[in-house]
Amino acid sequence: MEIGHFINGSHVAGGSGRFSDVYNPATGEVQAKVALATRQEMRGAVEAAVEAQKGWGATNPQKRARVLMRFVGLLHRDMDKLAETLSREHGKTVPDAKGDVIRGLEVAEFCIGAPHMMKGEYSEGAGPGIDVYSIRQPLGVVAGITPFNFPAMIPMWKFCTAIAAGNAFILKPSERNPSVPLMLAELMQEAGLPDGILNVVNGDKESVDAILEDPDIQAVGFVGSTAIAEYVYTKGCAHGKRVQCFGGAKNHMIIMPDADMEQAADALIGSAYGAAGERCMAISVAVPVGEETADRLVEKLTPRIEALKVAPYTAGDDVDFGPLVTGEALERVRGFVDKGVAEGAKLVVDGRGFKMQGYENGFFLGGCLFDHVTKDMDIYKQEIFGPVLSVIRAANYEEALDLPMSHEYGNGTAIFTRDGDTARDFASKINIGMVGINVPIPVPIAYHTFGGWKRSAFGDLNQHGADGFKFYTRTKTVTARWPSGVKEGAEFSIPTMD
Ligand code: NAD
Repeated sequence: MEIGHFINGSHVAGGSGRFSDVYNPATGEVQAKVALATRQEMRGAVEAAVEAQKGWGATNPQKRARVLMRFVGLLHRDMDKLAETLSREHGKTVPDAKGDVIRGLEVAEFCIGAPHMMKGEYSEGAGPGIDVYSIRQPLGVVAGITPFNFPAMIPMWKFCTAIAAGNAFILKPSERNPSVPLMLAELMQEAGLPDGILNVVNGDKESVDAILEDPDIQAVGFVGSTAIAEYVYTKGCAHGKRVQCFGGAKNHMIIMPDADMEQAADALIGSAYGAAGERCMAISVAVPVGEETADRLVEKLTPRIEALKVAPYTAGDDVDFGPLVTGEALERVRGFVDKGVAEGAKLVVDGRGFKMQGYENGFFLGGCLFDHVTKDMDIYKQEIFGPVLSVIRAANYEEALDLPMSHEYGNGTAIFTRDGDTARDFASKINIGMVGINVPIPVPIAYHTFGGWKRSAFGDLNQHGADGFKFYTRTKTVTARWPSGVKEGAEFSIPTMD
């Protein structure tokens, strides 16, 4: 099967002759080939978007919001189909794939409030006979470049907000799982979106560079690994665009001696191993405070990890996690496990031998647990993005706090404790964008905003919520005076309010 693009309201076959393999990670088979667009194909999509945006930007925001309202209904109608397609290309379980769709749907629901979000500000009588008002206007044509790990949620975060704000959108999804983004574009069209407002152009670096260099694209939102985030940010800014890029992570969870150890262990299992650890908000480092806490924690984690049900998504809703996304990802993560052993960390649970009967070519890796990890090890410094949890023992709270504070990434973090003072101190001091208190995956809800600090994010403003609307709009401020307020004669000094 060949997967093409969705441009100007129609499916279009790829014309470049270049393709990328799309795997079924559970079987290891290539199930489709996705076309990789040329610069000319990208330009065609941008031209369609420029034309379409003129009418869409002038459509009143309530009418634009109604498209999203209908879109939400269609997502519910097609939930099973979307989740199955997502699982087949990504490998995550069906309940988790539904969560991927729902977290995007929640942003679509928030964007139904676009008329409210687009409201400006008005100051009557700011000076003699002078009124001042600020309005928000769409940017025009904007783009989103998205990763493989949330093929429904992250595209929706971006295009729902941008489109509700009156922009036309170019989505360049991950080439590893392109089907769900295309289905989302079809549903937006069914919901009444005019042709050319949401275009899905599949591709690789060539398409990304075409976006970054296109003079008609005003803003670019990127999510993916830090190296590419930095590249996209630097190049996009150099071409005069508004750019926000969200990158990789190494999320620590601190477990204080007073924490409920059963709850902490359950939370760690879900957040470290869910989706095979392929989440930017996965906890990949556990920091128990004190040797006794560490011993109790590792004792509780070990049997839970050994009992994890690793299987294809077709094996039922009680599967804990599935395969990694590609063979390359599997080799990379396995390489980190080998490296951790070589670096001297204690591999308490070794998932490398895991084999799935009947799915021997699938990209499966069992859950792995390292204890006695230290700050200088590569398995601590780098993002692994797999089902591997590292335990790094801290002598006290100050030492524990210093670990995430000193790490180059700053996406998410959590603390488990019963003590309000400690929790409050942690939330206040930590230099990380999203913080959980007895919550292991503190992904903010749709009407707050999502974004990391340090090398987990480049640029200004977060994703979705009020920041999403700010990113995809610009402010215009009008100062108005009517003839009755005008004094006679020319004024040569800078006007003041005196
Ligand atoms: P990736 O960086 O490989 O790909 C992201 C996007 O960039 C894709 O659309 C891809 O086609 C494109 N791309 C890949 N190589 C490129 C190149 N050389 N030049 C230009 N574009 C290129 O990321 P991924 O593997 O798809 O996703 C996993 C990463 O995303 C992890 O690091 C994870 O932490 C991160 N992530 C971050 C967040 C966040 O909000 N901070 C959310 C989800 C995922």
